This record gives sequence, structure tokens and C-alpha cells, in this order.
Amino acid sequence: MKRTAFVNADVFPVVGERYKGGVIVGDGRILYMGSNDSIRAMLSEDDVIDLGGKTLLPGFIDSHIHPFGLIMQTLNLDLTDIRSLSELMDIVEDRVRKLEPGEWLVGRGWDDTLFGDKKRFPERDEIDRVVSENPAILVRTCGHVGVLNTKAIGLLSDVLDEKDENFDLQTGLVKENLLERIIDMIPLPPYTKLVDAAEHVFRNMFKLGLTTVVDMGGKDANLRVYQRLAARQHFPFRVRVYMMPEHLSDMINLGVEHRFGSSEVKIMGLKVLMDGSLGARTAYLAMPYADNGGNKGILNYSEQELLDMVKRANEAGLQVVAHVIGDGAAFVTVSAFGKVDGIQYLRPRLEHCQILSKEIVDRMAQLGVIASVQPVFVFYDAPWVVERIGEERLGYAYAWKKLKDAGIVVSGGSDAPVCSCNPLKGIWSAVTRVDRNGNVFTPKERLSLLESVKMFTIDAAYSIFEESDIGSIEVGKKADMVALSGKLDENNLDRLQVILTMVDGEIVFSSF
Ligand SMILES: [Zn+2]
Repeated sequence: MKRTAFVNADVFPVVGERYKGGVIVGDGRILYMGSNDSIRAMLSEDDVIDLGGKTLLPGFIDSHIHPFGLIMQTLNLDLTDIRSLSELMDIVEDRVRKLEPGEWLVGRGWDDTLFGDKKRFPERDEIDRVVSENPAILVRTCGHVGVLNTKAIGLLSDVLDEKDENFDLQTGLVKENLLERIIDMIPLPPYTKLVDAAEHVFRNMFKLGLTTVVDMGGKDANLRVYQRLAARQHFPFRVRVYMMPEHLSDMINLGVEHRFGSSEVKIMGLKVLMDGSLGARTAYLAMPYADNGGNKGILNYSEQELLDMVKRANEAGLQVVAHVIGDGAAFVTVSAFGKVDGIQYLRPRLEHCQILSKEIVDRMAQLGVIASVQPVFVFYDAPWVVERIGEERLGYAYAWKKLKDAGIVVSGGSDAPVCSCNPLKGIWSAVTRVDRNGNVFTPKERLSLLESVKMFTIDAAYSIFEESDIGSIEVGKKADMVALSGKLDENNLDRLQVILTMVDGEIVFSSF
């Protein structure tokens, strides 16, 4: 067996004590952990990589990401970080020249809170002025609302209804389920293009130290792209997929249970979107928004509808994860989970958990519900979240520490392309809770460095039933590791970079 080793490392195994020394790897697994001298005595110098005192960590896991969104983002028009409505329209106009007749213009990532001129959504007539012959849709950064031009509205007349609360004919605004449906109807680029883009996206993730990622928007196209990427050439990426409700019957009928698939691609279960986002005021709150009349947001499924799905999934051996941002949605969801016998064995997860209450946290702990959170949201949301929810609800807003203290497993993710998928940025956010204005948001909810790293390693592994195989540096586990540019400590997290990534014992990225 070919063996390689890292020596002269500051090993942060996550499970067990931090130590100075090294790790021997063979056959894709961690074979030995010990001192530099002991390793050098066993291996020839050619097989040893000297890390020069730099930190060695288990590979990062993103427990909530949308790789297909990232793939489409490389093919669609990127609207992130645009600072005004007029700049937005200029970028759209620029793209129009490159479109084929009839081709959709799909833009994604605009954020009205960043607009310096008018902090409002773009509207149909503005888009018409720059793109009238081709159908166009511009999706907000949160992915819960989008705006159509007149050409697109004409093509989508079968699914658009003026009486639908998710559609506004005047402004072209579409929301939530309707937006999802529309995105599904837009023709995909050819698969060769998608697989090329997927390879590019996964290589970028390696650069960020991500060795396993969890796809939270599984559809047939995602599975096809991942399988074709795995088949095309040896490529040691790992993606775990939660399928959207329209595929629940397919999974049940085929006998697919959680963890079905290959080492690269596994189906885990069902993803249900219970509500929207705080940014778009579609997250479902128990009490109305503080800044929006009597609006409480949108609940996508009643408790009974959710319960029916969860029961079917649970009986079929599928894990259930539910997107819940508001406390109203979280309450309904834990209440449904509580009515399903044995649900804890399939590790139900709540995604986001932005606004909770003591009652919800207690119920989650009782039922063994995992909280899958995106610490980096604090950076983006904290400056405006008080306006949305008011002071009284702040104690249970992004309250990761309260979740930990209740004994709940808290796993970390990014929700990219909503936010950057750099796990070091997520860890930094969990530790510091600094927002983009430099203020610290509810400092009591800060987590320790170890707790924060666990979110993106061993606790994320637990959330996908892989804690015995990945998520820590331990003898016998898969050799998934990252080396950082400097010493890992609380004060330099924002300056650290990944300099080497190993998956299954293979170096997939190195700038070292
Ligand atoms: Zn998501």
C-alpha cells in the first residue's frame, strides 16, 4: 500500500486533543497519528509533506448548499453585489446582445438592500426597456422572489394567474412556489455544458477546503449532472442530495432509502420548503412582522400536509429536512415531527432556524432534531433584522448558542449561492457574530472556536449519517483533510486561507 504523510503540523483533529506532529494516510484512510519523529522513522522522506507548523484540520462539510444553483450561476447572469437599479439594468442590457432569439435571460443575485439609489425591487416595465424580445427573469439573492418581463409573462400564461397571491401582473413579481415552478420550466442548457460547469464548481469548492457538500434542492437534473461528472473521469467529489417534494413518490416507488447511491452521490431524503425568507418578508412568523402591517409571511404547507409527507418519507426510510426561517414555520414543523413515531432515528433536520422560541428549542431537543444553520447569514442580515422582527424576538434570532446549550446538534452550511460557501467565513461568523457594518450581533450567542469548527466538520457529518467515516481526523476515518495558511485561532480566522485539500487520501488542491 502506498503511504503518504503530513509532518510538522499543528493537528486540530476536532475529536480529541490538538497536537504538534503528523498523520499517515494510505488507501484513502487515516492510518496513524503521532509525532514527527515516529512518522519519519516509518516513511521515506519522499512520501512526507512538511507543513511547516501550519494547521491541519478535517475536510470541511457544507451541510446546506445549492451546487446546482452555483452551476447555473456560472451559466446565468450574475447579479450579486450590484449597488443600484440603474447598474442592474446596464448589466442586463449588456447581456441581451449575447442572447440567441428566444433564449431566456436568467439573472440571479440582486439585493435591493444594497441599492444606493432606490431600495426597492426592479419592476417589469424597467426590464422591458432593456430586454423586450427575449423572455427574462431576475431572481433576488434569497431565491424566494423574482421579476419577469412582459415577454416572459406571455410565455408563462399557463401558470400565471392574476388572482394568485404569489404573482403581481403590474410589477412582474413572482414568489415562492410559483417562482420555483417557473424556474423549472425554463429550458436547461445542454448537459455537456452543465457537467463542465459542475466540475468547475466542485474544483472551486476544493479550493475552499470543502470535501463533502449537501445539496438542498435535489431534482432529476442535479442527479444526472453529478452522476455524469462521476462517470466522466476519476473525480473524488462527494455530494449528498435531499430531493424536492415532487420526487417523494419516485423515491418511495423505487425503494430508495436514505444514503442510497455511490460514494460520490447519495440520495438522503426529502427537502420541504415550509416558508420563505426574512429579506422578502415571506418567512412565516408566529406574530406579524414589526415593519409590515399585519403580515406574518407565507406558510407553504399546512401542518397536516407536512405531516402526510413526513409520515410517508419516514416509513420509506427517508430522512426529512425542512426549511424553516420564521418561528411560525418552525413551530408547525416540530409539531408535525412530534406526531411521527420513531422520527428521531432518521435524524430530522430544520434548515436555517433563524427565528425560534424557547418552546421550539425544547421540542427540537426532545425530538432529536438537528439544527442546520448558516452562520454567515448573521453578517448579511444583522443590520436589518431588528426592523423586521423587533427587539422582543431578538433573543431567539440566529441563537446558535441556545441551540447548543439545549443539547441540539448544530451543523453549519452556507446556502450558497445565497451566500459565499467559504467555510472559514462561516466559522468566523459563528465565532464573532460581526455584521457587515462591523457591529457584533447578540454577542451572547457567539460560539467557541471548537464549537464553530465542529459545525462544519463532525456535526455536519452527523447530519448526513457519516460521522463514523468523515468529519474528524481519527485513525480509520477517510483521509479528508485541509491545511490552512496559518495558525487556527479566534483572532485570525478572517485572514486564514486553505492551502491544501485532500479527499479520500488524494490531494485535490494545493497552493502550498
Ligand atoms: Zn437553501
